[in-house]
Amino acid sequence: MDRLSDAAVEQFIAVRRDIHRHPELAFNERRTAALVAAQLGAWGYTVTTGLGGTGVVGQLKRGTSNRTLGLRADMDALPIAEATGAAWASCTHGVMHACGHDGHTAMLLAAAQHLATQGRFDGTLNLIFQPAEEGGGGALKMMEDGLFERFPCEAIFAMHNMPGFPQGQLVFRSGPTMASSDYATVTLHGVGGHGAMPHKAADPLVAAASIVMALQTIVSRNVDPMQPAVVTVGALHAGEANNVIPATARLEISLRALDPQVRRDMERRIHELIALQAQSFGVRAEIAWRPGYAVLVNDPQQTARALAVARKHFPADQINPQGPMLTGSEDFAFMLERVPGSYLFIGNGADGEPGACMVHNPAYDFNDLNIAPGAAYWIALVQDLLSPNP
Ligand SMILES: [Zn+2]
Ligand SMILES: [Zn+2]
Repeated sequence: MDRLSDAAVEQFIAVRRDIHRHPELAFNERRTAALVAAQLGAWGYTVTTGLGGTGVVGQLKRGTSNRTLGLRADMDALPIAEATGAAWASCTHGVMHACGHDGHTAMLLAAAQHLATQGRFDGTLNLIFQPAEEGGGGALKMMEDGLFERFPCEAIFAMHNMPGFPQGQLVFRSGPTMASSDYATVTLHGVGGHGAMPHKAADPLVAAASIVMALQTIVSRNVDPMQPAVVTVGALHAGEANNVIPATARLEISLRALDPQVRRDMERRIHELIALQAQSFGVRAEIAWRPGYAVLVNDPQQTARALAVARKHFPADQINPQGPMLTGSEDFAFMLERVPGSYLFIGNGADGEPGACMVHNPAYDFNDLNIAPGAAYWIALVQDLLSPNP
């Protein structure tokens, strides 16, 4: 297997820490994108910037084959005040790389340099550095800017670090892997009045309380018990005073599912249940639905190929062939709806070991020991899938 030289490992740990010091929020990844574009350009990639706002694509062609492959990393940070105390801690107060996207960018850059200088492959390699994974849907924005029309990919892969798994472990999963996320704001319009004369009012607060309880039955009574699903009412606002019946009440709801059909069924059931509950209390419900990320479904065939590459180059104890489903969401799901591929995890550190702190925590940090195996896996994947001797 091709491995990074010790000097290259040091070089890209330094790159990772440099990006970590200068975190940028969704669609503002200007410095990071410029760094990525400059490095790719220096190594001979054809670089396209400004895709989906701050997205960057580096393309490298070798040989005569018309095979194509896409690898994706994300570049954005989070609005969290860092508490790692690291020497390379964020210089921007209130913003930090708490999800390891600094590491994902550095791992893919490390592979990019190696593949440009000594890679053995035949075909077209597209390296996709996307903005705004954290809720902004940067993947979709790049696709709306013609990502896959301009840079066709027969298969696409992405890698995310994951605390709780042993450092460097490659975790694969075939089928649904990450949850869809959807959001709804429900406004109940009633008739306000005096707390002493409820019969003269239509109380949206009582209706809201009943709806909160009824929503709990969607997962317990409507969804197949073998299917994971989450309905959370995260906010309920109504009223100001103990003797006043308010005119309106508002609920904020979030939903997760790991099956596209369950996702659709939950949306339908929530609309029905809220409308009929509201009607039964004589109030009117208005639902503002905000679709979030799709269910991330790893293509079985591409996942098997990705796993086979790992098995060929890495020891068995470093490979988890079928990891768990997670209720987190990931906008790489949109790319996988268009192009078959697979999303894998690289363990950031087992519980009780360095790197175990969960992502989105102020004390989280990407484990630099993953630069070497992460880049080595990308290099192996490219050289095997675009092998010069297929
Ligand atoms: Zn995240
Ligand atoms: Zn992330």
